[in-house]
Amino acid sequence: MALPTVPTPSGLYELRQSPTAGIGVFATAAIPSATRILCEAPLFALPDDDDVIACYLTIRELSKDQQYAFWALASSTTPPADTDWIDELRAACDEDIGDGFDDLVKKYEDAYSKFETNRFTLRYPDGSPNKLGVFPNAARFNHSCSPNVYHRYNTNINCLTIHALRDIHPGEEICTAYIDICNDTAERRRVLQHWGFLCRCTACEAQEPARELRRNKLGGLMTTMQKREKKRSFENWGKWDYAEALTTVEEIIALMLEDGLEETDTLGEAYEIAAEYSLAMNCKEDAIKWAERDLEVERKCCGEDSAEFAKAMALLESARAT
Ligand SMILES: [Zn+2]
Repeated sequence: MALPTVPTPSGLYELRQSPTAGIGVFATAAIPSATRILCEAPLFALPDDDDVIACYLTIRELSKDQQYAFWALASSTTPPADTDWIDELRAACDEDIGDGFDDLVKKYEDAYSKFETNRFTLRYPDGSPNKLGVFPNAARFNHSCSPNVYHRYNTNINCLTIHALRDIHPGEEICTAYIDICNDTAERRRVLQHWGFLCRCTACEAQEPARELRRNKLGGLMTTMQKREKKRSFENWGKWDYAEALTTVEEIIALMLEDGLEETDTLGEAYEIAAEYSLAMNCKEDAIKWAERDLEVERKCCGEDSAEFAKAMALLESARAT
């Protein structure tokens, strides 16, 4: 079946100095919620296995323009702690290159550092192992723990897409979340050390006690939900198991809506699970309600040409067919 076309309007943003984090991306027009702001193919993608040598060799194979785009990216991570690759590199050098070897190591480290700073995760709905890819335009977007856009690699079109999570006003900085944001500020800032900065987004700076508590609670409940989901695949759940598990999921949904976390990884996943549990309990009306909400989240965050949207549509259809 042909994929629906999701337009990516141009002229929606510009790059300029951000007050808190170097160059950032700023809206130059009013951007309605769900708009696809960016659709970008990877410059290259690698398996998620910390292979410094493969990273450098892949970059060397890129065209001149592509290499230029890569080397123009920012770099903020430290060299990999594991240095076995240096011995491997020395062994691979045909002759003794003396001081030149240190320069070579430095080049490999620089390449890997840029890669680590700018890579996005490519997830595959068929369960294939994740990859890490570089998307030079997407890499320009700064991080926020209260993001106004959502990024996701779309396997159907081999592109990373960025969608508006809400209406964005002209002049507003456009930020995506580099990390799982269902945690309190201290934990988020700890994870963000990978990128070498202290997050100064509105959520981190305000540290409102109510939001801190909510995010902390959410992190715990999400873990409970995901653990239960894993167990469900090999346990024989009865109606009461589903009812109990659904209570947790509904609590998660309420907390997320309160916090405005309306994206695929959090709310979308919770809606999907709520629909599945309701289906298992023969609560058709509820299953349809949750599946419809899931579909809307996937449409907004990933678009109608995504595998996530197709999966949500299939769930809704099966709920309606019961
Ligand atoms: Zn933050």
